[in-house]
Amino acid sequence: QRYVYRFGGGVSDGGGGDRNLLGGKGANLAEMASIGLPVPPGFTISTAMCTRYYEEGGAFPDSLRDEVADGLAHIEEITGKRFGDAADPLLVSVRSGARASMPGMMDTVLNLGLNDRTVEGLAAASGDPRFAWDSYRRFIQMYSDVVLELDHSRFEEALEIAKEDQGYGLDTDMTAADWRSLVAEYKALVEELWGKPFPQDVHDQLWGAIGAVFGSWQSERAKVYRRLNYIPASWGTAVNVQAMVFGNMGDTSATGVAFTRDPAKGDNAYYGEFLINAQGEDVVAGIRTPQYLTRAAREAAGARAASMEEAMPQVYGELARVFDLLERHYRDMQDIEFTVQQGKLWMLQTRSGKRTAKAALKIAVDMAGEGLISEEEAVARVDPAALDQLLHPTLDPAAPRDVLTTGLPASPGAASGAVVFTADAAEEAAQAGRDVILVRVETSPEDIHGMHAAKGILTARGGMTSHAAVVARGMGRPCVSGAGALSIGKDGMRIGDRVIAAGEVITIDGSTGEVMAGAVPTIQPELVGDFGTLMAWADKVRRLKVRTNAETPLDCRTAREFGAEGIGLCRTEHMFFDAARITAVRQMILASDEAGRRAALDRLLPEQRSDFVEIFEVMVGLPCTIRLLDPPLHEFLPHEEVEFAEVAAAAGLDVDTLKRRAAELHEFNPMLGHRGCRLGVTYPEIYEMQARAIFEAAVLVAEKSGDAPVPEIMIPLVATKRELELMKAVVDRAAEAVFAEKGRRIDYLVGTMIELPRAALKAGEIAEAGAFFSFGTNDLTQTTLGVSRDDAARFLSGYVEQGIYAKDPFVSLDVEGVGELVSLAAERGRATRPDIKLGICGEHGGDPASIAFCEQVGLDYVSASPYRVPIARLAAAQAAL
Ligand code: PEP
Ligand code: MG
Repeated sequence: QRYVYRFGGGVSDGGGGDRNLLGGKGANLAEMASIGLPVPPGFTISTAMCTRYYEEGGAFPDSLRDEVADGLAHIEEITGKRFGDAADPLLVSVRSGARASMPGMMDTVLNLGLNDRTVEGLAAASGDPRFAWDSYRRFIQMYSDVVLELDHSRFEEALEIAKEDQGYGLDTDMTAADWRSLVAEYKALVEELWGKPFPQDVHDQLWGAIGAVFGSWQSERAKVYRRLNYIPASWGTAVNVQAMVFGNMGDTSATGVAFTRDPAKGDNAYYGEFLINAQGEDVVAGIRTPQYLTRAAREAAGARAASMEEAMPQVYGELARVFDLLERHYRDMQDIEFTVQQGKLWMLQTRSGKRTAKAALKIAVDMAGEGLISEEEAVARVDPAALDQLLHPTLDPAAPRDVLTTGLPASPGAASGAVVFTADAAEEAAQAGRDVILVRVETSPEDIHGMHAAKGILTARGGMTSHAAVVARGMGRPCVSGAGALSIGKDGMRIGDRVIAAGEVITIDGSTGEVMAGAVPTIQPELVGDFGTLMAWADKVRRLKVRTNAETPLDCRTAREFGAEGIGLCRTEHMFFDAARITAVRQMILASDEAGRRAALDRLLPEQRSDFVEIFEVMVGLPCTIRLLDPPLHEFLPHEEVEFAEVAAAAGLDVDTLKRRAAELHEFNPMLGHRGCRLGVTYPEIYEMQARAIFEAAVLVAEKSGDAPVPEIMIPLVATKRELELMKAVVDRAAEAVFAEKGRRIDYLVGTMIELPRAALKAGEIAEAGAFFSFGTNDLTQTTLGVSRDDAARFLSGYVEQGIYAKDPFVSLDVEGVGELVSLAAERGRATRPDIKLGICGEHGGDPASIAFCEQVGLDYVSASPYRVPIARLAAAQAAL
């Protein structure tokens, strides 16, 4: 089996289609080389090697040594330099490259191949000793950090002290001699921290770096990132070894990163940053302030330092041509790394650029308009889950703001929360249900878990392409980066003479860069423009209907604005918790006989009726699935000692009776206890009241608006046909009674939830009694897996980490297991009743992967919470494509 694939100098062993084998970076380097772009020659060790490396307990097969030697020979032939040559050494970069871009992995080692001998050769051959010694110290610093995993702050400190001793402000002030003596210090530091001298053998250096890349695949940070992004551990990473080109060879050299369109707003304009006389990591690390790429961007920002367009017009022109070519070739916005070595442009990377949801929408709609992609492709391009970013509130422009400072608008959206200064603190606070803003000088891959837990991210250093900015955009977290006026000290964060301590609330606006004290009120977004256009295209292609899970008129209105085509689940128990009715609910529960229960239910009837009237008015003409009471009754009783007296008084009982009744209702497994239709079987008068309220409301609304709603009355937790028959009879009797009283009939359906494995298995029989099924996949997952949905959090993440379930089965449907029950029930239900209506109303109804499954099984609709309705519309469209 072959593991090494060459590229550059007219050779491309792989191509853009080999992403699985070569990783994203390797595949695109091969692709760029094959379309004639200037790519430094190199080779990729495939992801298959990563898998084998782990299978063999962290060892390489002998054959790999020969293949790597051949790869090096390829680079040597094209560059005319030799690896380890004392006169004119070849230097290489070593980078990881998984299928999906993955922060948290060992990233890059540059200038590999330098040692005490070759550095002299590099100095002589380049005629620039300063450059050579600068490169050598960079190499030791990076290699020590990412390969040897030594404490990088010690190296940074040494550099700071060296600069201070000389009275320098910038790295660029350092002379060849200064770098040379720093190299000596670095080597001493390596011996001190590692216990061995810095490796002088260039082949040892190379194998060390290759091993570190493969090793980093199983680092904690990489595992966390994979878990959050559903990346399987089996994918592995590739390693790219490539000839170095140097952006730090004087003022005709530079390095930069660019996007072919604005990744924050989506505008069709080049966007990026570059640094003259620098190497790649300088741009991202935020050590020097990068310059703009285009004159327009520089002018818009009011910056003084010349843009690349002005400083290097010829190379800029070439770069712009490459941008256009890459966009047309990949038919997508590209994220590019480049280096200019003494006036010659080299491409180091291209990939589809990460972007905000807003930019994703605009770019997709624009590209369809430009004829670059079709409307369907535009629909396919936008990640439905990312729409979440657009659907959430933004800062109310009319609200007063106490602006502390302004940084860069790195990732849009507004967020308020208590200030925390470490990723761990962010995670802890989030687990305790608190909203926090993570404030850091800058972020690194070690902070990923905290960034994910935080509502927003604020950094003091770093540009629009800094780690914080890129990761926040990818995660959809609002981010303000590079707020230079901010410093972090022992007492908190300081801005001018204001100090904000940990725990105090701030607000950040990632669209403007503003940082404000306190919580600033927000307003709802408007769903027009590109969003409306793309949703209209999505609606054209989707087959699945999208309904909403809602129980208040406000939720119903929000959902309709988001495009809901009906209610898929109205959980009526939520109405029972209302402060005005809970007493009547409790009296009903505590009643000692049916007469007592009926008296309490009579008081609840008008309240329920008015709930339904309001909902039907909002949803007029649309189907409304209303579920009768589901939770065990003790949920409505007090749990705290202090509440008993008050509740007893309100219900007209003595405290002891109340306590006794509460104790009687106690269950060991309430989720498998007296709940769902089991309540209806024991106390049919409860369901009778609810059905009456629904029909009275429907008749009222029909009389008022002339357009009758179509109630779909749903019986929960059915396991047998008989249960459904009994409950349907209760509902039908209530319907006939109301129709007779009012002298008006309306259409309605009675159906059931499928939430228990038995119901799924006996769906053929159950369909004889019900006109529709709605898959309650929350309970169905719980009962099929035998995993309590309320207690699973404690161990499920470990299950996902170990690959037992690919994703949290309560978030994304366990298609193999629970899915089989769903498809079997759908099939059996349809066999009995070909026109049976099938839907899903568990949380999975708003999850794109689960929606794809619903399309496959041919359900009629999915139902999602209001804010997820647009996500479901887009996901349903993508599922149909
Ligand atoms: C379900 O079980 O999937 C469902 C929608 O009902 P609930 O979440 O209210 O139990
Ligand atoms: Mg349920």
